[in-house]
Amino acid sequence: MLFPSTVAGSLPKPAWLAEPNKLWPKWQLDGEPLAQAKLDATLLAVKLQEDAGIDVVGDGEMSRQHFVHGFLEFVDGIDFANKVEMGIRADRYKAMVPVVRGALTLKGRVHQAEAKHARAHTKKKLKITLPGAMTIADTVADAHYGNRAKMALAFADLLNKEARALEADGVDVIQFDEPAFNVFMDEVPTWGIEALERAIDGLKCTTAVHICYGYGIKANIDWKNALGEEWRQYEKIFPALARSRINQVSVEVIHSHVPMSLLGLLAGKDVLAGVIDVATDTVETPEEIAGVIKDIMQFVPKEKIVACTNCGMAPMHRDIAEAKLMALGAGAKLARERFG
Ligand code: ZN
Repeated sequence: MLFPSTVAGSLPKPAWLAEPNKLWPKWQLDGEPLAQAKLDATLLAVKLQEDAGIDVVGDGEMSRQHFVHGFLEFVDGIDFANKVEMGIRADRYKAMVPVVRGALTLKGRVHQAEAKHARAHTKKKLKITLPGAMTIADTVADAHYGNRAKMALAFADLLNKEARALEADGVDVIQFDEPAFNVFMDEVPTWGIEALERAIDGLKCTTAVHICYGYGIKANIDWKNALGEEWRQYEKIFPALARSRINQVSVEVIHSHVPMSLLGLLAGKDVLAGVIDVATDTVETPEEIAGVIKDIMQFVPKEKIVACTNCGMAPMHRDIAEAKLMALGAGAKLARERFG
Protein backbone atom coordinates (compact mmCIF):
# COMPACT_ATOMS: atom_id res chain seq x y z
CA MET A 1 0.00 0.00 0.00
CA LEU A 2 1.28 3.46 -0.90
CA PHE A 3 1.69 6.23 1.66
CA PRO A 4 0.91 4.36 4.86
CA SER A 5 0.51 6.77 7.76
CA THR A 6 2.06 6.82 11.23
CA VAL A 7 2.91 9.27 14.02
CA ALA A 8 6.38 10.36 15.12
CA GLY A 9 5.55 9.29 18.66
CA SER A 10 3.83 11.17 21.43
CA LEU A 11 0.22 12.33 21.69
CA PRO A 12 -1.21 14.68 24.34
CA LYS A 13 -1.99 13.00 27.64
CA PRO A 14 -5.52 13.20 29.09
CA ALA A 15 -5.84 15.71 31.95
CA TRP A 16 -6.78 12.90 34.36
CA LEU A 17 -3.40 11.26 33.68
CA ALA A 18 -0.99 14.21 33.68
CA GLU A 19 -0.93 18.00 33.63
CA PRO A 20 -1.98 19.05 30.12
CA ASN A 21 0.05 21.03 27.56
CA LYS A 22 3.41 20.47 29.20
CA LEU A 23 6.57 18.82 27.95
CA TRP A 24 7.36 17.58 31.45
CA PRO A 25 3.97 17.08 33.10
CA LYS A 26 3.30 15.96 36.67
CA TRP A 27 1.33 12.71 37.00
CA GLN A 28 -2.13 13.13 38.54
CA LEU A 29 -2.01 9.76 40.33
CA ASP A 30 0.57 7.40 41.72
CA GLY A 31 1.15 3.74 42.49
CA GLU A 32 -1.19 1.17 41.03
CA PRO A 33 -3.89 3.68 39.97
CA LEU A 34 -1.22 5.50 37.89
CA ALA A 35 -0.09 2.26 36.25
CA GLN A 36 -3.72 1.48 35.36
CA ALA A 37 -4.40 5.02 34.12
CA LYS A 38 -1.35 4.84 31.81
CA LEU A 39 -2.75 1.71 30.19
CA ASP A 40 -6.23 3.24 29.87
CA ALA A 41 -4.70 6.27 28.15
CA THR A 42 -2.67 3.95 25.89
CA LEU A 43 -5.89 2.28 24.77
CA LEU A 44 -7.46 5.68 24.01
CA ALA A 45 -4.41 6.72 21.99
CA VAL A 46 -4.58 3.53 19.93
CA LYS A 47 -8.34 3.91 19.34
CA LEU A 48 -7.92 7.51 18.24
CA GLN A 49 -5.26 6.54 15.71
CA GLU A 50 -7.35 3.65 14.40
CA ASP A 51 -10.35 5.96 13.95
CA ALA A 52 -8.14 8.43 12.07
CA GLY A 53 -7.10 5.67 9.68
CA ILE A 54 -3.47 5.65 10.85
CA ASP A 55 -1.79 2.49 9.56
CA VAL A 56 1.10 2.05 11.99
CA VAL A 57 -0.16 3.05 15.43
CA GLY A 58 1.84 3.90 18.54
CA ASP A 59 1.18 3.94 22.28
CA GLY A 60 1.13 7.76 22.20
CA GLU A 61 3.95 7.61 24.80
CA MET A 62 1.30 7.80 27.53
CA SER A 63 3.46 5.95 30.05
CA ARG A 64 6.48 8.25 30.06
CA GLN A 65 6.92 11.72 31.48
CA HIS A 66 9.73 12.67 29.11
CA PHE A 67 11.17 10.92 26.07
CA VAL A 68 14.67 10.49 27.52
CA HIS A 69 13.97 10.27 31.25
CA GLY A 70 11.18 7.74 30.71
CA PHE A 71 14.00 5.36 29.77
CA LEU A 72 16.63 6.56 32.26
CA GLU A 73 14.28 5.79 35.18
CA PHE A 74 14.90 2.12 34.40
CA VAL A 75 18.70 2.33 34.27
CA ASP A 76 21.01 1.55 37.19
CA GLY A 77 24.38 3.32 37.42
CA ILE A 78 22.85 6.82 37.25
CA ASP A 79 22.79 9.22 40.18
CA PHE A 80 19.57 11.25 40.08
CA ALA A 81 20.03 12.66 43.60
CA ASN A 82 23.02 14.87 42.81
CA LYS A 83 22.32 16.47 39.44
CA VAL A 84 24.83 18.83 37.85
CA GLU A 85 24.36 21.71 35.41
CA MET A 86 25.43 20.90 31.86
CA GLY A 87 25.08 22.60 28.49
CA ILE A 88 23.17 20.21 26.27
CA ARG A 89 22.69 20.07 22.47
CA ALA A 90 26.06 21.82 22.05
CA ASP A 91 25.19 24.37 24.74
CA ARG A 92 21.85 25.38 23.21
CA TYR A 93 20.44 25.16 26.71
CA LYS A 94 21.60 24.52 30.24
CA ALA A 95 19.91 21.75 32.14
CA MET A 96 20.31 20.03 35.47
CA VAL A 97 21.23 16.51 34.46
CA PRO A 98 21.75 13.22 36.32
CA VAL A 99 25.27 11.77 36.51
CA VAL A 100 26.47 8.36 35.31
CA ARG A 101 28.60 7.03 38.19
CA GLY A 102 28.99 3.34 37.41
CA ALA A 103 28.50 0.64 34.81
CA LEU A 104 25.05 0.99 33.21
CA THR A 105 22.52 -1.83 33.53
CA LEU A 106 18.78 -2.14 33.00
CA LYS A 107 16.65 -2.66 36.12
CA GLY A 108 14.12 -4.60 34.12
CA ARG A 109 11.67 -4.06 31.27
CA VAL A 110 10.95 -0.46 30.30
CA HIS A 111 7.91 -0.42 28.01
CA GLN A 112 6.55 -3.94 28.36
CA ALA A 113 3.23 -3.06 30.01
CA GLU A 114 2.09 -0.50 27.43
CA ALA A 115 3.50 -2.45 24.46
CA LYS A 116 1.67 -5.63 25.47
CA HIS A 117 -1.53 -3.73 26.26
CA ALA A 118 -1.48 -1.95 22.89
CA ARG A 119 -0.61 -5.21 21.13
CA ALA A 120 -3.56 -6.98 22.78
CA HIS A 121 -6.00 -4.33 21.58
CA THR A 122 -5.09 -3.54 18.00
CA LYS A 123 -4.56 -5.56 14.84
CA LYS A 124 -2.74 -2.65 13.22
CA LYS A 125 1.02 -2.56 13.00
CA LEU A 126 2.44 -1.26 16.28
CA LYS A 127 5.33 1.13 16.76
CA ILE A 128 7.16 1.85 20.02
CA THR A 129 9.77 4.59 20.34
CA LEU A 130 12.93 4.72 22.43
CA PRO A 131 15.39 7.59 22.91
CA GLY A 132 18.52 7.26 20.80
CA ALA A 133 21.88 6.54 22.42
CA MET A 134 23.52 9.76 21.21
CA THR A 135 20.67 11.89 22.54
CA ILE A 136 20.74 10.07 25.89
CA ALA A 137 24.52 10.55 26.10
CA ASP A 138 23.94 14.27 25.54
CA THR A 139 21.36 14.43 28.34
CA VAL A 140 23.43 12.96 31.20
CA ALA A 141 26.79 13.86 32.70
CA ASP A 142 29.53 11.23 32.67
CA ALA A 143 31.64 10.46 35.73
CA HIS A 144 32.38 6.85 34.84
CA TYR A 145 33.10 6.10 31.17
CA GLY A 146 35.43 9.03 30.50
CA ASN A 147 34.38 9.15 26.87
CA ARG A 148 31.00 10.16 25.44
CA ALA A 149 31.11 7.64 22.58
CA LYS A 150 31.92 4.82 24.98
CA MET A 151 29.03 5.83 27.23
CA ALA A 152 26.67 6.06 24.23
CA LEU A 153 27.61 2.51 23.19
CA ALA A 154 26.87 1.31 26.72
CA PHE A 155 23.41 2.92 26.50
CA ALA A 156 22.98 1.35 23.04
CA ASP A 157 23.46 -2.10 24.59
CA LEU A 158 20.64 -1.40 27.05
CA LEU A 159 18.42 -0.05 24.29
CA ASN A 160 19.10 -3.17 22.27
CA LYS A 161 18.05 -5.37 25.15
CA GLU A 162 14.73 -3.54 25.52
CA ALA A 163 14.23 -3.41 21.73
CA ARG A 164 14.69 -7.18 21.40
CA ALA A 165 12.17 -7.70 24.20
CA LEU A 166 9.70 -5.31 22.52
CA GLU A 167 10.06 -7.27 19.29
CA ALA A 168 9.24 -10.43 21.23
CA ASP A 169 6.16 -8.62 22.63
CA GLY A 170 4.90 -8.31 19.05
CA VAL A 171 6.00 -4.76 18.22
CA ASP A 172 6.38 -4.23 14.45
CA VAL A 173 8.40 -1.01 14.33
CA ILE A 174 10.99 0.20 16.84
CA GLN A 175 12.06 3.80 16.47
CA PHE A 176 14.93 5.65 18.09
CA ASP A 177 14.53 9.39 18.66
CA GLU A 178 17.75 11.25 17.91
CA PRO A 179 17.32 15.04 18.04
CA ALA A 180 21.06 15.16 18.78
CA PHE A 181 21.72 13.99 15.21
CA ASN A 182 21.45 17.52 13.83
CA VAL A 183 23.70 18.95 16.55
CA PHE A 184 26.75 16.69 16.41
CA MET A 185 27.04 16.34 12.65
CA ASP A 186 30.71 15.30 12.78
CA GLU A 187 30.09 12.57 15.34
CA VAL A 188 26.99 11.09 13.66
CA PRO A 189 28.86 9.37 10.80
CA THR A 190 31.30 7.89 13.31
CA TRP A 191 29.98 6.83 16.72
CA GLY A 192 26.40 8.12 16.29
CA ILE A 193 25.59 5.58 13.59
CA GLU A 194 27.65 2.92 15.35
CA ALA A 195 25.53 3.37 18.49
CA LEU A 196 22.31 3.33 16.44
CA GLU A 197 23.33 0.10 14.73
CA ARG A 198 24.26 -1.44 18.04
CA ALA A 199 20.79 -0.57 19.36
CA ILE A 200 19.10 -2.37 16.42
CA ASP A 201 21.50 -5.32 16.37
CA GLY A 202 19.74 -8.61 15.76
CA LEU A 203 16.26 -7.09 15.28
CA LYS A 204 14.06 -8.54 12.55
CA CYS A 205 11.26 -6.01 12.93
CA THR A 206 11.28 -2.67 11.10
CA THR A 207 13.70 -0.14 12.59
CA ALA A 208 13.48 3.63 12.40
CA VAL A 209 15.27 6.75 13.55
CA HIS A 210 13.52 10.08 14.16
CA ILE A 211 15.70 13.14 13.77
CA CYS A 212 14.39 16.62 14.25
CA TYR A 213 14.84 20.27 15.11
CA GLY A 214 12.93 19.91 18.37
CA TYR A 215 9.74 21.22 19.89
CA GLY A 216 8.77 24.88 19.75
CA ILE A 217 10.30 25.88 23.10
CA LYS A 218 12.10 29.24 23.31
CA ALA A 219 15.69 27.92 23.28
CA ASN A 220 14.87 25.94 20.15
CA ILE A 221 13.15 28.83 18.41
CA ASP A 222 16.14 31.13 19.10
CA TRP A 223 18.51 28.46 17.79
CA LYS A 224 16.42 27.87 14.67
CA ASN A 225 16.37 31.63 13.97
CA ALA A 226 20.18 31.53 14.00
CA LEU A 227 20.35 28.78 11.37
CA GLY A 228 19.47 30.99 8.42
CA GLU A 229 16.91 30.47 5.65
CA GLU A 230 18.06 27.05 4.48
CA TRP A 231 18.84 24.37 7.02
CA ARG A 232 21.43 22.12 5.44
CA GLN A 233 22.70 20.27 8.56
CA TYR A 234 21.20 17.02 7.27
CA GLU A 235 23.39 17.15 4.16
CA LYS A 236 26.24 15.89 6.38
CA ILE A 237 24.36 13.06 8.05
CA PHE A 238 21.86 11.74 5.46
CA PRO A 239 24.54 9.94 3.37
CA ALA A 240 25.74 8.17 6.53
CA LEU A 241 22.16 7.23 7.43
CA ALA A 242 21.62 5.97 3.88
CA ARG A 243 24.62 3.64 4.30
CA SER A 244 23.43 2.41 7.72
CA ARG A 245 21.29 -0.65 8.45
CA ILE A 246 18.33 1.40 9.72
CA ASN A 247 15.15 0.84 7.64
CA GLN A 248 13.31 4.15 8.09
CA VAL A 249 14.18 7.79 8.70
CA SER A 250 11.58 10.12 10.22
CA VAL A 251 12.12 13.78 9.39
CA GLU A 252 10.07 16.99 9.38
CA VAL A 253 9.02 18.26 5.96
CA ILE A 254 5.96 20.53 6.06
CA HIS A 255 6.93 24.17 6.82
CA SER A 256 10.52 23.00 7.30
CA HIS A 257 13.53 25.09 6.35
CA VAL A 258 15.32 21.93 5.30
CA PRO A 259 15.50 21.93 1.47
CA MET A 260 13.25 19.06 0.35
CA SER A 261 15.85 17.98 -2.19
CA LEU A 262 18.02 16.72 0.70
CA LEU A 263 15.53 13.85 1.12
CA GLY A 264 17.07 12.46 -2.04
CA LEU A 265 20.19 11.68 0.00
CA LEU A 266 18.25 9.02 1.95
CA ALA A 267 18.32 6.60 -0.98
CA GLY A 268 17.07 3.12 -0.10
CA LYS A 269 15.33 4.18 3.13
CA ASP A 270 11.64 4.55 3.89
CA VAL A 271 11.16 8.25 4.55
CA LEU A 272 8.68 9.00 7.32
CA ALA A 273 7.95 12.44 5.97
CA GLY A 274 6.38 14.98 8.30
CA VAL A 275 3.21 16.30 6.67
CA ILE A 276 1.73 17.56 9.95
CA ASP A 277 3.29 20.64 11.58
CA VAL A 278 3.31 20.18 15.36
CA ALA A 279 4.47 23.76 16.01
CA THR A 280 1.16 25.34 14.95
CA ASP A 281 -2.44 24.80 16.00
CA THR A 282 -3.64 25.36 12.43
CA VAL A 283 -4.98 22.02 11.26
CA GLU A 284 -3.73 20.88 7.86
CA THR A 285 -6.26 19.99 5.17
CA PRO A 286 -6.10 16.62 3.39
CA GLU A 287 -5.56 18.62 0.17
CA GLU A 288 -2.51 20.37 1.65
CA ILE A 289 -1.08 17.04 2.88
CA ALA A 290 -1.54 15.38 -0.50
CA GLY A 291 0.24 18.40 -2.01
CA VAL A 292 3.25 17.96 0.28
CA ILE A 293 3.38 14.25 -0.57
CA LYS A 294 3.33 15.15 -4.26
CA ASP A 295 6.32 17.49 -3.74
CA ILE A 296 8.22 14.81 -1.82
CA MET A 297 7.68 12.39 -4.73
CA GLN A 298 10.17 14.48 -6.74
CA PHE A 299 12.94 13.31 -4.40
CA VAL A 300 11.76 10.04 -2.82
CA PRO A 301 10.28 7.07 -4.74
CA LYS A 302 6.59 6.97 -3.86
CA GLU A 303 6.74 3.43 -2.51
CA LYS A 304 9.27 4.70 0.06
CA ILE A 305 7.10 7.53 1.42
CA VAL A 306 5.31 7.15 4.75
CA ALA A 307 3.04 10.03 5.86
CA CYS A 308 3.97 11.11 9.38
CA THR A 309 3.88 14.01 11.82
CA ASN A 310 6.90 16.34 11.99
CA CYS A 311 7.52 15.44 15.62
CA GLY A 312 5.69 14.35 18.76
CA MET A 313 2.40 16.04 19.68
CA ALA A 314 2.66 15.73 23.48
CA PRO A 315 2.46 19.45 24.33
CA MET A 316 -0.54 20.18 22.05
CA HIS A 317 -4.19 20.56 22.99
CA ARG A 318 -5.98 17.25 22.65
CA ASP A 319 -8.67 18.52 20.27
CA ILE A 320 -6.07 20.02 17.94
CA ALA A 321 -3.94 16.87 17.98
CA GLU A 322 -7.02 14.76 17.30
CA ALA A 323 -8.00 16.96 14.34
CA LYS A 324 -4.44 16.73 13.01
CA LEU A 325 -4.51 12.93 13.28
CA MET A 326 -7.75 12.86 11.29
CA ALA A 327 -6.18 15.14 8.68
CA LEU A 328 -3.12 12.87 8.48
CA GLY A 329 -5.22 9.77 7.80
CA ALA A 330 -7.41 11.59 5.29
CA GLY A 331 -4.46 13.28 3.55
CA ALA A 332 -2.59 9.99 3.08
CA LYS A 333 -5.77 8.41 1.69
CA LEU A 334 -6.27 11.29 -0.73
CA ALA A 335 -2.66 11.00 -1.92
CA ARG A 336 -3.20 7.25 -2.45
CA GLU A 337 -6.25 7.92 -4.59
CA ARG A 338 -4.50 10.61 -6.54
CA PHE A 339 -1.00 9.21 -7.06
CA GLY A 340 -1.55 5.46 -6.61
ZN1 ZN B 1 11.03 15.30 17.02
